[in-house]
Amino acid sequence: MTTLAPETYAKSLDCVHCGLCLDACPTYRATGRETSSPRGRIYLMRGVAEGRAALADLLQEEAFLCLGCRACETACPSGVQYGSLLEDTRTALVDQGLRRSPAARLERALLKHLVPHPRRLRLALSGLALAQRLQLDRLAARVLPARLARLLSAAPRVPPAAERVALPEWLPAEGTSRGVVAVFAGCVMPELFGAVNAATVRVLVRNGYDVWVPRSQGCCGALQAHAGDRETAHQLAAHNVRAFEDRALDAVIVNSAGCGAALREVTHWLGADAQAFADRVRDVCEFLDERGLRAPSQRVAARVCYDDPCHLVHAQRVRDAPRRLLAQIDGLELISHGDAAACCGAAGTYNLTQPEMAGAVLDRKLNALAEADPDWVATGNPGCLMHIAGGLRRRGLRARVVHPIELLDWAYGGDPGGAAGGSPFFSGAAKRP
Ligand code: SF4
Ligand code: SF4
Repeated sequence: MTTLAPETYAKSLDCVHCGLCLDACPTYRATGRETSSPRGRIYLMRGVAEGRAALADLLQEEAFLCLGCRACETACPSGVQYGSLLEDTRTALVDQGLRRSPAARLERALLKHLVPHPRRLRLALSGLALAQRLQLDRLAARVLPARLARLLSAAPRVPPAAERVALPEWLPAEGTSRGVVAVFAGCVMPELFGAVNAATVRVLVRNGYDVWVPRSQGCCGALQAHAGDRETAHQLAAHNVRAFEDRALDAVIVNSAGCGAALREVTHWLGADAQAFADRVRDVCEFLDERGLRAPSQRVAARVCYDDPCHLVHAQRVRDAPRRLLAQIDGLELISHGDAAACCGAAGTYNLTQPEMAGAVLDRKLNALAEADPDWVATGNPGCLMHIAGGLRRRGLRARVVHPIELLDWAYGGDPGGAAGGSPFFSGAAKRP
């Protein structure tokens, strides 16, 4: 019989059914169904934990239709730990065999056997890059079954090889050193967002930090945990805690909101032994804002909408820091839009596994962006960058997406030259608006 652990049940009792989270929930807004709301999902969790097994199938559907955006946590006055409840629930449902569709199994297999293995991932993406260059992906999409065709058309464009180079292991600060930081490079970031990683390191160097990029680091485990594979997530997290323990560091810098949230909450998986590591994790914008930004030298004339990644604003509670940094760039006009703190629908692999809801959730944001009409939409998470970019393109909107750290990099002129010690990593020019 399907059940949930006593600790999950205990956490579910924090919900007092007030309903203050409902309007913040994208799936409730899209469906109007109580069972697709935070309160409804917690009710289902409680019901299954109390032995009402008939609710288990509905809980399985709703737990995986949930975006895991955690907007409900921000809205909740009772301190319900919704993210933790959701992860416990998904893990239990997977472990008890309630999520066995071929698509769900394929997702877990790819997240376990492909994504955390750099060589395999590189090989797979190199194949995809070749297919995209030869336009074979479009041909394949026409002959494949609808679901596979949709997956293929949603696949990200793989950047040119010049942007897929590994970060150097060590780069000295420009000018007087203000400290030593480590950079968490991620799993898909080096392959799909190498330019963002490069910009991150350049801006840190420009701001006076010696930068260490541990060679032995790996995937953070967030996507695996979201898919209900907590065992793999724990192994990956433990590996990363070891990879970053060799040096005295001011911070472990992360530029992907989803990874940052997972690394920051790593004690949920590994216990108090990982506390020292978790305490050092900082989002790159948060860190630069805390320490004070060295004045950027270049003008970046652009109208920019900042869009909050859920795992930065709701899971890490970092809202104002990126806006404060962007406001320091000469010529940059920061304009607000009406849906900035709502989920875009990317949610890790959600836009691949739940494309209809992901599209419905994104539509609302695109409406707000169409009204604001920025040159750039700035957001600090790879999934959001890809999902919003795809939506803007399909809608025919002129705005393009960018990570906030790239805007800062442009404001410093991109390549710091001498500080890099002639590293080929720094020879690539930053993309300019
Ligand atoms: S995590 Fe997001 S989608 Fe899920 S219940 Fe909370 S607000 Fe709704
Ligand atoms: S706001 Fe919090 S306590 Fe109120 S219904 Fe939502 S989860 Fe429950």
